Amino acid sequence: MTETERPHLAGLPADRLEALVVAAGQPGYRARQLARWVFKEGCFAPEAMSDLPAGFREWLAAHVDAGRLRLLQRREARDGTRKYLFGHRDGTLESVLMPYGEGLDGPDRVTACISTQVGCAVGCAFCATGLAGFQRNVTAGDMVEQVLRMQAEAGHRITNVVFMGMGEPFLNYDETLAAVHLLNKSVGIGMRHLTLSTSGIVPGIRRLAAERLQLTLAISIHAPDDALRDRLVPINRKYPLADLREAMVDYFEQTGRRLSVEYVLLDDVNDHPDQARALSRWIGDLPVHVNLIPFNATDTVFRTSPPARVRQFREVLEAAGHPATVRRERGAEIDGACGQLRRRYEEGQPVESGKA
Ligand code: SF4
Repeated sequence: MTETERPHLAGLPADRLEALVVAAGQPGYRARQLARWVFKEGCFAPEAMSDLPAGFREWLAAHVDAGRLRLLQRREARDGTRKYLFGHRDGTLESVLMPYGEGLDGPDRVTACISTQVGCAVGCAFCATGLAGFQRNVTAGDMVEQVLRMQAEAGHRITNVVFMGMGEPFLNYDETLAAVHLLNKSVGIGMRHLTLSTSGIVPGIRRLAAERLQLTLAISIHAPDDALRDRLVPINRKYPLADLREAMVDYFEQTGRRLSVEYVLLDDVNDHPDQARALSRWIGDLPVHVNLIPFNATDTVFRTSPPARVRQFREVLEAAGHPATVRRERGAEIDGACGQLRRRYEEGQPVESGKA
């Protein structure tokens, strides 16, 4: 059995875990014990799974990949945001952990942002990941393992997962959906606490609509007209704004779920009040929430919008009846934007671990 053929425990749903356990000559109930170690404890060392018989632990070590990722870098920002760089046998993956609020028992909400591809083929003009191009798809097991490793390392239960890291989830649809179901059923994160973010792959939106899941779908718009969006989000040439809106209308009709519109504000490019008005006209009566994201400077030609223009953009949308929030910038001083940490690491620039 080669390494690539070995099952990856974090990618196996309950029925396949049970089949694995039975194939190893163990009673079926061992699958529940194994699932607890992997999906609840985040344990990737068979020898540490103390309630499993020694012979079965040895069998696991010889026949499965308990974990496939190794932590290469971890940085923590002053606001508690942690950025992780994981190594895989053919590439590196970025993931981010964001705690919100501080109750007596720790943060009220802990959101993990995970990657669905190594690199990305969409090539958005302002994105460090897009600049580096596409390398490979990430498996469902690797997506789930990102969550489990961050949870174990941080010592906080992850309450929300956003598929907003490196990659376009709908260009890796099957593995992404398998990860959604594993996170929901095996890890125990509510479907409404999962968010898929797409750059606007219309066939993916239509396919997801037919699944009628209660997750949140976020669409990255970033420009209110096709001419500008062709430049910023090149996939627009294939799926222009009119087609995208139609797919969003169908999505809402099939799922009853309000969508999120993501809009990165770039200084003097897409952040003027007339562009806010054009965005409002494009949204029309579609029930969406607009997330305005102040640009987190990458090594591109774009700059961050001044706060007054961000405020004005939001006010135009709200005055037209579209709920809009400005996303608080998280972890900017630790290369918070998607793809930046990985890029620096792979270019051999210093990225030390620990507090920034
Ligand atoms: S913003 Fe998202 S879709 Fe666009 S290039 Fe970056 S990772 Fe890909």
